[in-house]
Amino acid sequence: MSLKPVAKKLSKIIEQPVAFASDCVGEAAASAVDNLKDGEILLLENVRYHAAEEMNDKDFSKQLAKLADVYVNDAFGAAHRAHASTVGVPQELSTRGGQGAAGLLMERELQFLGEELDDPSKPFVVILGGAKVSDKIKVIDRLLEKADTILIGGAMAYTFKLAGGFSVGDSLVEPDMTDIAQSALDKAEALGVEFLLPSDNLISQHKNGTWADPTVNTGNDIPDGDEGVDIGPATGARYANAIADAKTILWNGPMGIFEDPRFAEGTLTVARAVAAATGAGANSIIGGGDSVKALNQSGLADKVTFMSTGGGASLEFLEGKELPGVAALTDR
Ligand code: AMP
Repeated sequence: MSLKPVAKKLSKIIEQPVAFASDCVGEAAASAVDNLKDGEILLLENVRYHAAEEMNDKDFSKQLAKLADVYVNDAFGAAHRAHASTVGVPQELSTRGGQGAAGLLMERELQFLGEELDDPSKPFVVILGGAKVSDKIKVIDRLLEKADTILIGGAMAYTFKLAGGFSVGDSLVEPDMTDIAQSALDKAEALGVEFLLPSDNLISQHKNGTWADPTVNTGNDIPDGDEGVDIGPATGARYANAIADAKTILWNGPMGIFEDPRFAEGTLTVARAVAAATGAGANSIIGGGDSVKALNQSGLADKVTFMSTGGGASLEFLEGKELPGVAALTDR
């Protein structure tokens, strides 16, 4: 957890000395700050060594704020948490008239996940995958108001299938989310949003800790004993077609259990389609987490417009929530 190696690495990258304080508050921090000359850089030890950080403790925030005149937050990935380092410190500083600003990365995150998606160039295609409907239903609900097409993959497709009355075998599902999934389907229909679910799937059996080689299931129902592990080739082609026409793309969540190369083709097909559409002029925004991992794995990371560094933070922001770490800044 120590940031000591980070100080070394930072110093190499910026080709300047970076001093390091073994604690972020108290005597060690105070004397390290006192020793700084104008223009010098100091990295404080990880704030998470103190339980007071996550408690957003006032006294701890005061001690941290005492060290500085100006606060810049570039940790978008932590901005959904109201901790001392994200909220307490800028608040303390602002009571003494000090400014709190967004860093350049934070600014880009807010620009792409915020402004670009508030008024997207059309067609706007949203691709959502991953494990759970419950994690992403608020994002779906909000984006239904803006999207032209929503493509669903990953295990969450099976909860939508279940809601539609199909059987899903032993696939990962959330049976208590079917009503909510059905309301999203109804809302899509009422708003004229194209809402696509997989028409074929790769299925496999998980026995004694290992997966069998997958087969393609072209029926709407998944047989008992089988689990859906990826979207099938026909679905991949259909999704790639929809992506090709897009002018704005938002992608969050893999299409299958992409960690196993046998179940990664659906996710890779989407990654290639997103990269190609970007090359043809679309704005593509990748909502953090596993989709970023998949793009990195496929070597296509530099072929998309923007990859978010936030997992939870990007989802909460896309839900339309105000992030406490952004709200606490005086200059956003
Ligand atoms: P999330 O964090 O919600 O984006 O979920 C990512 C995880 O969902 C990855 O670890 C995938 O392996 C998993 N996942 C995607 N599709 C499936 C599936 N069909 N069955 C089980 N897990 C899946």
